[in-house]
Amino acid sequence: KEVIFKVENLRTWFPITKGAFKKVVGHVKAVDDVSLEIYRGETLGIVGESGCGKSTLGKTLMMLEKATGGKVLFNYDGEFRDITQFNSKEMFDFRKKVQMVFQDPYSALNPQKKIYTSFEDPLKVHGIHSEAEREAIMQKVLKMVNIQPDYLMRYPHEFSGGQRQRLCIARALEVMPEVLICDEPVSALDVSIQAQVLNLMKEIQAELNLTYLFIAHDLSVVQYMSDRIVVMYLGKIVEVADSRALYDEPLHPYTKALLSAIPVPDIHKTKKRQVLEGEVPSPIHKPSGCAFHNRCPNCMEICKQQDPALLVQNQSNGHMVACHLYTQTKQG
Ligand code: SF4
Ligand code: MG
Repeated sequence: KEVIFKVENLRTWFPITKGAFKKVVGHVKAVDDVSLEIYRGETLGIVGESGCGKSTLGKTLMMLEKATGGKVLFNYDGEFRDITQFNSKEMFDFRKKVQMVFQDPYSALNPQKKIYTSFEDPLKVHGIHSEAEREAIMQKVLKMVNIQPDYLMRYPHEFSGGQRQRLCIARALEVMPEVLICDEPVSALDVSIQAQVLNLMKEIQAELNLTYLFIAHDLSVVQYMSDRIVVMYLGKIVEVADSRALYDEPLHPYTKALLSAIPVPDIHKTKKRQVLEGEVPSPIHKPSGCAFHNRCPNCMEICKQQDPALLVQNQSNGHMVACHLYTQTKQG
């Protein structure tokens, strides 16, 4: 397996300031000491409740948020380069390799402009000066998402939500990226449309050998899409496992709670999902020790004092967990 992204001790902290002199009185630790590898061609799912830092992590991987510590190494033909140190020219080139697909496809497309313009602009920006060449690329990516080329002359409001998201995916593909960071790409869509978009994303991934970082709060969607899954809680990774292993034998009490909250399929969405007991603590005032301890049914004395390290539990499949229940088995 080839590593495409190597994230080392990444921090994305936001300062909280007070008073006229903007004195820094604390930090929101949105991403706090995250280390992780992403393999080429895989779909890595990232799950957690809202506010756990998953979107911020995704944005930091393409420096849409600035890293305040650690490294984000990207594989350039076998040589790893730290994108957090890039100058603006290097960053501009890097952005072609990693594109983002957002939750709300309506706001991602300019409502005042024809789709044609929204598709042509990024190509112009990235130096495709010939109109014929630009149109050839547009046709190619539209075909991939099954949208007719003459629809380019329409405006965003003339499309359904599912079509709009397919357009956003097509536009992301124009610059031939290696990685797509997808932040809740189907959560704004009707359930009946979700599977259609997800299946299309899988087809495109296989065709182009794309790597997906798939961020979502909906565990069943993440399970459907992902080869491996990362579970985040208050800015930290608490568990990493193959999709199958995570669902068959979750280790972290938080993961177990998330999984037990997956309802049986309910197409009418009548029931509100009850995720977990207790509130997510504020990322500004994180609990001491294990940040999950105030909600954990297995909390022990040590949990209130020591933050558990993320350690490999199973050498054969790389299953990792950060929890004192497992610290007897040390990393090999
Ligand atoms: Fe629960 Fe302790 Fe494990 Fe944290 S470290 S998840 S509090 S058992
Ligand atoms: Mg989010």
